[in-house]
Amino acid sequence: MKNLLGGKGANLAEMSNLGLPVPPGFTITTQVCTEFYKNNNTYPKALPTQIDEAIAQIESIMGNKFGDNSNPLLVSVRSGARVSMPGMMDTVLNLGLNDETVAGLAAKSGNPRFAWDSYRRFIQMYSDVVLEVEHHLFEDKIEQLKLDKGVELDTELDVEDLKNLTQQFKQLVQDELGQPFPSDVREQLQGAINAVFSSWMCARAITYRRINEIPEDWGTAVNVQAMVFGNMGNTSATGVAFTRNPSTGDNEFYGEYLINAQGEDVVAGIRTPQNITKKAQDESGQNKPSMEETLPEVYTQLVDVYNKLEQHYKDMQDIEFTVQEGKLWMLQTRAGKRTAKAAIKIAVDMVNEQLIDKRTAVSRVEPESLDQLLHPTLDSNAPKQVITKGLPASPGAASGQIVFSAEDAEEWVEKGKKVILVRIETSPEDISGMHVANGILTSRGGMTSHAAVVARGMGKPCVSGAGELKISYATKQLTVNGLELNEGDIVTINGSNGEVIKGQIPTIKPNLSGDFSTLMDWADEIRTMKVRTNAETALDTQTARDFGAEGIGLCRTEHMFFEGDRIIAMRQMILADDEAGRRKALAKLQPMQTDDFAQIFKIMGEFPVTIRLLDPPLHEFLPHTDEEMQQVAQASGVSVEKLKQKAENLHESNPMLGHRGCRLGITYPEVYEMQALSILEAADKVRQETGLDITPEIMIPLVGSKRELDLMAEVIANAAEQVQNKTGRKVNYLLGTMIELPRAALRAGDIANTAEFFSFGTNDLTQTTYGISRDDSANFVGIYRDKKIYEHDPFAVLDTDGVGELVQLAAERGRDTRADIKLGICGEHGGNPSSIKFCKSVGLNYVSCSPYRVPIARLAAAQAEL
Ligand code: PEP
Ligand code: MG
Repeated sequence: MKNLLGGKGANLAEMSNLGLPVPPGFTITTQVCTEFYKNNNTYPKALPTQIDEAIAQIESIMGNKFGDNSNPLLVSVRSGARVSMPGMMDTVLNLGLNDETVAGLAAKSGNPRFAWDSYRRFIQMYSDVVLEVEHHLFEDKIEQLKLDKGVELDTELDVEDLKNLTQQFKQLVQDELGQPFPSDVREQLQGAINAVFSSWMCARAITYRRINEIPEDWGTAVNVQAMVFGNMGNTSATGVAFTRNPSTGDNEFYGEYLINAQGEDVVAGIRTPQNITKKAQDESGQNKPSMEETLPEVYTQLVDVYNKLEQHYKDMQDIEFTVQEGKLWMLQTRAGKRTAKAAIKIAVDMVNEQLIDKRTAVSRVEPESLDQLLHPTLDSNAPKQVITKGLPASPGAASGQIVFSAEDAEEWVEKGKKVILVRIETSPEDISGMHVANGILTSRGGMTSHAAVVARGMGKPCVSGAGELKISYATKQLTVNGLELNEGDIVTINGSNGEVIKGQIPTIKPNLSGDFSTLMDWADEIRTMKVRTNAETALDTQTARDFGAEGIGLCRTEHMFFEGDRIIAMRQMILADDEAGRRKALAKLQPMQTDDFAQIFKIMGEFPVTIRLLDPPLHEFLPHTDEEMQQVAQASGVSVEKLKQKAENLHESNPMLGHRGCRLGITYPEVYEMQALSILEAADKVRQETGLDITPEIMIPLVGSKRELDLMAEVIANAAEQVQNKTGRKVNYLLGTMIELPRAALRAGDIANTAEFFSFGTNDLTQTTYGISRDDSANFVGIYRDKKIYEHDPFAVLDTDGVGELVQLAAERGRDTRADIKLGICGEHGGNPSSIKFCKSVGLNYVSCSPYRVPIARLAAAQAEL
């Protein structure tokens, strides 16, 4: 009944129903809150009478009376929305005390110090959270009194001191508010209830709701409960505990307690709590006793309670309790927060313990959280100096000496050094430097910038778009917020949160346990959507296979043209004056491409492999600096002049929207022909070697019309014929296209007449739908998110409303034409859980993502199914 009673209220009621010891009380429902605001801040008429009746019920259970001078009932008042919400009024304890009832409490408990301490705490807390008198004013009075008395600890104040303090507190309220502290207990209670409901609309709560998408009309509940006291002497205590270890997931009770204390003492950190179990206390090295030793009977009871709670909720619980003079009282239970490692262990253990089924286990683990397990993470205990923040472009943490060019990165690594490659932005020519670097840091570029995409593919930490960095390639220096770092200085980057840290921070290596693969196997049994990977090297392909990828959804062939001698042949091809010249250069590239593809086919075996033909504009392959120009001119046997001229000709204002994708294939069909020959020959070769029947999927990028695809289909059919003529064997292949332009999505019905599969390139589709350059988005997407124009970075989380509608429409139109058309996604969104859910909803056959996201996608696809 969380919606009606709030999380805290529902769980208290539930524990009470289970027969667990819960202090009697009642919950004013969230409905009252909603009505209160609907009706101009007025309560439903029946409320006061119902409160009176409920109080009377507590009185009859507890055997005392609210506001009674000799035997007073005290209550706690706590807020409790459906989800826990910082920013709202939290708790008032000891409510019901005044100058008369305090005497009753003193006499009844036989402990005047306890009574007066409770009273002064109540005035302090109530004044702070209900009357909004500043907290520190009260603390100042306590400090002054201790100073006057020459004592250090609150506990050294005696009854007379506390009486004196109480008097001062009341005077303080009078001075601050111009009216006395309320002594009428009913007025106190109403004040606290009002404060809870009002806090639902305070600025902090409103902001929190907006950020976390919590609807305003959920409202909060108010929980009023009889007070139980953990501060009544040495058989009283207060504590918090988890039913299993929240960081390791081990099935061991884990918690802390304080003797003779109230809950806020634990939270405030004034005293150091002790462990509940003897084992944990021994391990902690403190010489104070555990609760297992000091209160053995209560401990046994507590173990019994947590077993009951786990059996009932079938999940790890986070509990709060109080012990009053040897009697245990439960104050709260809720599902406990846990690390990814613990989440997996607990889910798998609970299936083995037959508490939950596999489907529940799979739904219990947050897919995104697996990232913590797949990459090295920073030792959270290590101190760190964060110098700036960029985008968390590729997760994991890495340290190294900074270098400013790909060549330097390679040189330094060759000498045995560890480097972080720092660039304003990266381009395909930096690939080899990125490969050897421990991590990549850029000052420009968004979540789908070259650096981000390539780093994720390599599973390398990357922070991109750290705009505060001023990078000088000339002096090999970077400056940030007044700090200057030179080549060779050490930084640490945390690609999981975007932090850039000065110096070296120790990292912790991932350790994928048996539980991890067990859970993954269960996810695989559930999901129907396939998970492929985006990969183009043998290494990445193997990594992805090991992570469970079921094929390649996108092999970006351009990355293959940068290694070793290939770039020379590639540049010769670009610099050639005519087709004959281009063919000559392409002939050198073809055997290398054939080898690349053969390797990938072998690793992927029976699984499908989608290879995309050349996509980026050609100028990306040309040198940029004068020095490089010289070298390249020499190597290619052309003049520097000519090279410069060519670079000038290829220069584009908006290369992302320029001469790229199939537009290259249309202009230079021989390039696509060479690539098709390589693919088909490699498939034939691997078939001959292994007996595997390989059917490559050849994919044409950036298509906007059927005619473009038809022309490319002819080129490929022609290549297939050449291979058949040469080998005497036919190679089957599928021909498909990326859908990455709005026009392609709209014309999908027509395009599907030729295309046997579609792969949604949502990076470009987002770029072209929004009209935002994916490389420049980082400059303002943050502001757009702050202003709530964008809920998320659309390059990270698929915009289901706009881009998603195009995806859905293209899928439908494609299927109308060709019922069995294969549909997949290979943009970065293919590794994002909420986007994966969307992909499932529109019936895509697979998602494809970078190797290190494959496990995340497997789990997310299973959850989408559930
Ligand atoms: C895309 O546009 O979504 C895509 C996968 O291609 P690329 O990122 O290489 O442009
Ligand atoms: Mg694209």
